[in-house]
Amino acid sequence: MAVEGDLNERPAHELIDALKSGEVSARELTDSVLAAIERQQEQINAYITIDADGAREQADAVDRRIAAGESLGPLAGIPVGLKDLICTEGIKTTCASHILNNFIPPYDATVTQRLKAAGAVIVGKLNMDEFAMGSSNENTIAGPVRNPHDSERVAGGSSGGSAAAVASGQATLTLGSDTGGSIRQPASFCGVVGLKPTYGRVSRYGLVAYASSLDQIGPLGRNVRDTSLIFDVIAGHDAHDSTSADVPSPNSAAQLEQGVEGLTVGIPNEFFSEGLDSEVETAVRKGIAHLESRGAKIVDVSLPVAGHPEYAIAAYYIIATAEASSNLSRYDGVKYGHRADTDDLIELYEQTRSEGFGDEVKRRIMLGTYALSAGYYDAYYLKAQRVRTLIKADFERTFKSCDILATPVAPTTAFKIGEKVEDPLQMYLSDIYTVSVNLAGIPSISVPCGKSEAGLPIGLQLLAPPFEEDRLFRSARVVEQELT
Ligand code: GLN
Repeated sequence: MAVEGDLNERPAHELIDALKSGEVSARELTDSVLAAIERQQEQINAYITIDADGAREQADAVDRRIAAGESLGPLAGIPVGLKDLICTEGIKTTCASHILNNFIPPYDATVTQRLKAAGAVIVGKLNMDEFAMGSSNENTIAGPVRNPHDSERVAGGSSGGSAAAVASGQATLTLGSDTGGSIRQPASFCGVVGLKPTYGRVSRYGLVAYASSLDQIGPLGRNVRDTSLIFDVIAGHDAHDSTSADVPSPNSAAQLEQGVEGLTVGIPNEFFSEGLDSEVETAVRKGIAHLESRGAKIVDVSLPVAGHPEYAIAAYYIIATAEASSNLSRYDGVKYGHRADTDDLIELYEQTRSEGFGDEVKRRIMLGTYALSAGYYDAYYLKAQRVRTLIKADFERTFKSCDILATPVAPTTAFKIGEKVEDPLQMYLSDIYTVSVNLAGIPSISVPCGKSEAGLPIGLQLLAPPFEEDRLFRSARVVEQELT
């Protein structure tokens, strides 16, 4: 029998071959990941719900297919974890919030369905910031996620559980969601690969909404190939999501080894401004040098609006909170979720929402409601939308002369638990390099490019024009190869 630790660390594509050849069974693989969860859950706290029985059943079903010689899906037997805002039929989906703590969805999200159809084994639901609002995975009813590289530090957020689980062998692959950086920043903090796909690339049917014009589901993996494998499974048009793009499905895994020879990589100077930690800058520049040494052409570019925190962060936190205030109005204690104990209707709304939402969520609902209110709509919301158009134009212009852009993911490595909780503005600033991507709707990947002296991972962010995820994967693959 294979050694447990070894099994968990092996890449998905190798495990798939090992399953097909009979070297390992899906049950063994699932048991090994469940054991890794059991050992680490108390310490890292990556999961909110662990579905051990369901996972074993799914694994056994895969083993039966193998024994019967039936055809297998592309992720057959691979243990996957889902961020706890992706609906799973019959399994609690809490968004790390009291208000949904008793919510059991009656249906699967499209991504859940696609994973199941591909043979993936869903082991559980991952910890996150409440309603995906946060950058540290500390705003959660389940308690903070701890960084597997240093348990005093945050895993990043809001998909902290998704990044920490993959980094510590508690899932082979995971899904997160990214509204302003929530896949890429935790991926960077935990030393794994994370992709925020083009807006519309992956169906959001069954994703609990935070800010609908920005939200995207995306994958996290321990290496670039694994991440591209699961991306190919979840991406593609879905009639259930009216914002899903009707474009051909990707086949990124096939183009992975094409290299970067002849690609032009733009370096936007605004993303290397003051506030960027020097160790982060050194590692990011090293990552860029790897691209150059493998044949990419490096050019300096400027993104005056998209790269300016005063515009990008401000526009993001107006638009995201405005949309959140509208999306979260559905939690009223009537249809589902937490219900306050009162017979008076108005009191029911008030108490349910006061009891159900955490402080950060309440802050965002108030901010967003304010920005949308009659007297302030033009001054804030409309202005933010105009800035958003300029940010989009910045990228469109730059991508006329570059194939991809390269920047840091976050200004620092993982910070200490508790360090920023009292200062929301400081917390918001950790998103300065990631939010523009969401405002423009373009794809972006975080790939490890080194570590700080203290041993904390650092990510390189690569950006591409809409629907050019392939370019991101093949460039990230080059950085990964140079690093290992
Ligand atoms: N940290 C950002 C926020 O709090 C981004 C969150 C996300 O991408 N879901 O809004």
